[in-house]
Amino acid sequence: MSPYDAVVIGAGAAGLFCAGIAGQLGARVLLIDHSPKVGEKIRISGGGRCNFTNRDAGPANFLSDNPHFCRSALARYTPQDFIALVQRHRIAWHEKHKGQLFCDESAEDIIAMLLRECEQGNVTRWQPCAVAGVRQSGDGFEVDTDRGPVRSRRVVVATGGLPVPKIGATDFGLRLAREFGLRTTDTRPALVPLTFDAADWAPFVPLAGLSLPVNITSGDGEFLEDLLFTHRGLSGPAVLQISSFWRGGTPITIDLAPGVDLADVLKAAKGTSRRKVANELPQHLPARLAEAWLAGRPLAERPIADTRDKDLQDLAASLQAWSLVPNGTEGYRKAEVMAGGVDTKGLSSQTMESRAVPGLYFIGEVVDVTGWLGGYNFQWAWASAAACGRAIGGN
Ligand code: FAD
Repeated sequence: MSPYDAVVIGAGAAGLFCAGIAGQLGARVLLIDHSPKVGEKIRISGGGRCNFTNRDAGPANFLSDNPHFCRSALARYTPQDFIALVQRHRIAWHEKHKGQLFCDESAEDIIAMLLRECEQGNVTRWQPCAVAGVRQSGDGFEVDTDRGPVRSRRVVVATGGLPVPKIGATDFGLRLAREFGLRTTDTRPALVPLTFDAADWAPFVPLAGLSLPVNITSGDGEFLEDLLFTHRGLSGPAVLQISSFWRGGTPITIDLAPGVDLADVLKAAKGTSRRKVANELPQHLPARLAEAWLAGRPLAERPIADTRDKDLQDLAASLQAWSLVPNGTEGYRKAEVMAGGVDTKGLSSQTMESRAVPGLYFIGEVVDVTGWLGGYNFQWAWASAAACGRAIGGN
């Protein structure tokens, strides 16, 4: 008889959490990771303070080919549940912005909490320990590891997404899903800076480092967040958010003065201001942006009082409906998450178990459920792990 009821592959956010829950419910769990350290992405998350959930997380904050899939797990393990756990472990936290909750001290506190939960569940941990493959055997599986083969009735794949390969990300979960006949949806870097052709971007290079609130749209996405100009393109929360909605070859549209009708304001200034356009525009926008925007335009030197309404309207439109086509993203090296993954049609939304391969589960980022920026991705890791851990521990 196998000493384990379940082998969990991947000791990141989802794997650690699932193993602890299943273990505490009585399952004998082996947790394996090929990295020497657990939870490396938790460690680097939220600038080292881990934005561990979002108070307002709900299905509307996630992208997936099947937007309804995440409903059940998110409803059964809520941000409040995770906050209660964090409080039980006496981890101090604070809310930063738009429901985003961070540790006061360090992301290490969340890792230590997850390890304590695993200890309470008598979870066995093997790491570093590579997994070469998984195959069906009898009424369960045989997992081929560095430390020899392990038999188990259940296997949970919690190997995450492709971002940041230098800290252990692999396509193991996607490959395994395909080997077992599960479909995977197209994957792409998400929550990632966008890049532009060097020649097109040249006029904006002097703006590198400038940050300002904008309204940004692309596809079905729309966010009011801060934008950051970089040497290669655009970043900051606004662009990370929209990158998940952006598809290659399509434009993004940016309002650089959200909440202001710049055309009206500039036209009104004609009656009251004796400034040139170059001096009037910085009254309504960051000076560096106004300067770069007007560089080389004859309009800049014209007194605003003598400027045609049509020219002011065009200037305002160029700033409030700035449409530009990125040539790509900074890729998995810089992405915070992977969009796409194991197709949810092949999984139970109640337990995360494969419909076609009973006993095989997929949780966390490897599944085609991708959260917005702001603690949502960890909430999906916790919620999908809880759904699976309770199912495994319960029988
Ligand atoms: P991971 O946490 O990535 O864990 C996967 C584990 O599987 C890893 O330990 C890895 O070593 C292991 N593994 C991979 N392949 C194998 C293999 N072949 N064999 C054995 N083990 C393997 N989300 C938020 O909600 N809030 C944030 O503040 C936040 N900040 C982030 C900052 C950065 C820089 C990055 C990159 C991501 C951030 N995220 C954040 C996203 C979040 O980290 C992930 O969505 C989350 O960690 C996914 O959890 P997971 O358990 O599915 O995968």
